[in-house]
Amino acid sequence: MAHTVTEPAREIDIVHETDVLVVGSGPGGLPAALAAARAGVQVALVERFGCFGGNLTVVGVEGMHWYRHEETIESNGIAREFEEKSKEMGAAVPESQSLSYEIDSEGFKLVADRLVLDEPNIRPMLHRQFVAPIMEGNKIVGIITESKAGREAILAKRVIDATGDADVIQRAGARTFMTPKEDMMAASVMFHVAGVDKAKFMEGIKADPQTYADWGGGGEWAIETSGKEDEMFSPFLKKPFDQAIKDGLIPANLNTIAGTWGAVHDTGELTYMNLIHMDECDGTDPDSLTKFEIEGRRQTMLAIEALRRYTPGCDGIRLRNFGMSIGIRDTRKVDCLYNMTSNDVREQGRFDDSIGIFPEFIDGYGILILPTTGRYFQIPYRNLLPKSVENLLVSGRATGGDRDSHAATRNMACCAVTGQGAGIAAALSVKSGKPLAQVDVKDIQRELERQGARHH
Ligand SMILES: Cc1cc2nc3c(=O)[nH]c(=O)nc-3n(C[C@H](O)[C@H](O)[C@H](O)COP(=O)(O)OP(=O)(O)OC[C@H]3O[C@@H](n4cnc5c(N)ncnc54)[C@H](O)[C@@H]3O)c2cc1C
Repeated sequence: MAHTVTEPAREIDIVHETDVLVVGSGPGGLPAALAAARAGVQVALVERFGCFGGNLTVVGVEGMHWYRHEETIESNGIAREFEEKSKEMGAAVPESQSLSYEIDSEGFKLVADRLVLDEPNIRPMLHRQFVAPIMEGNKIVGIITESKAGREAILAKRVIDATGDADVIQRAGARTFMTPKEDMMAASVMFHVAGVDKAKFMEGIKADPQTYADWGGGGEWAIETSGKEDEMFSPFLKKPFDQAIKDGLIPANLNTIAGTWGAVHDTGELTYMNLIHMDECDGTDPDSLTKFEIEGRRQTMLAIEALRRYTPGCDGIRLRNFGMSIGIRDTRKVDCLYNMTSNDVREQGRFDDSIGIFPEFIDGYGILILPTTGRYFQIPYRNLLPKSVENLLVSGRATGGDRDSHAATRNMACCAVTGQGAGIAAALSVKSGKPLAQVDVKDIQRELERQGARHH
């Protein structure tokens, strides 16, 4: 049997034309669309699922600002607006370990709708999956989507790839890098539970408070800190699962079940349960995703049983919901005009073409550094420009960089920083008629300031 088939060429309707097209609506995409629209151009926001928000809504990653402490210096801008708008709309509760609010993953669907609908320049286009770029030589001029309506073409003057996996950039032929599967950050099935006795649960936490020094035991939870984090409180849960292994409830090879809870609500919900960590899941391979979605759900039920037996206040809990999709932390990174380095994020990198700042917060690949000191790094505009394809920018977790820098820039608030910078740059490029690489960074910085985002 032949191993390939030939797909016949076909005519595709052009359903929409716009100035700036943003593909993906997560923390890297939604801010890009908002920022471009606020800079005065027409925007289309394409998303494969039925809600905006990416991991925030789709996976249930609710801790967008859990790094924030007294001295933390951050960008403000749209990253902060997400939190403020969520508070205003009743979609946020105080976060357990920081001076921030945890954003409710269901409530944020409504917050994002409101933010999008409040910008008349944005055309929301949900339920469309990007499948191919439309190229003229090395310039991208639009995309093809697949949906219940079949294939559709959308043309655009500039495109921002905010798919998280650099789907657009990779298919447009630019270079991307992928961490070897054995070294990738673990994937997680995220869940929330109901039926917690909040008072008893908090009594238990206070009786045996955990710290960041207690993290350990495989998966994401074997970390190097800078030392200053060690005595700080962490909403870390591992003891119940150790006990479950001792009692034979959980098999010993699942000592990766451990992690953090986000918030405990008066309504008896324990949310953002980041406890399931599975190695070697390739987020660009649907067979791998299939296997680990199913495995993650199985492990979740073991974790819930262990919580019921060994955690105060949890004896009556039940699964409330899984995230709509498995959570992926690590796939492709784009080879950009400038790729961020470990030194940049650990040693306060400074750049003349800064499009935003992010506090010294590094979380991943076995490192946890919290921004308790006011240190921060800048992100250069060149970090959003892929080599070799024109009219195209990247924002969100796929921006170019090495492992340590990914552990910083993948964080949702940093994705919002690159998103806001990319949206403004794309808008100014359209308005000035200049190629993306020639947009005057001073103009981008001025618009960032006008939009309330800090770049130095
Ligand atoms: C389990 C887990 C826990 C995490 N915990 C934290 C945390 O506590 N704090 C923190 O700051 N960060 C955390 N992160 C990291 C953070 O969630 C991500 O790095 C961040 O969401 C990346 O943003 P993004 O916009 O680049 O990608 P995403 O959030 O993945 O958004 C991409 C969007 O693009 C859409 N899309 C993708 N492909 C296509 C396509 N082909 N066509 C159309 N649409 C497409 C997706 O549906 C999605 O909406 C965590 C991640 C995971 C997985």
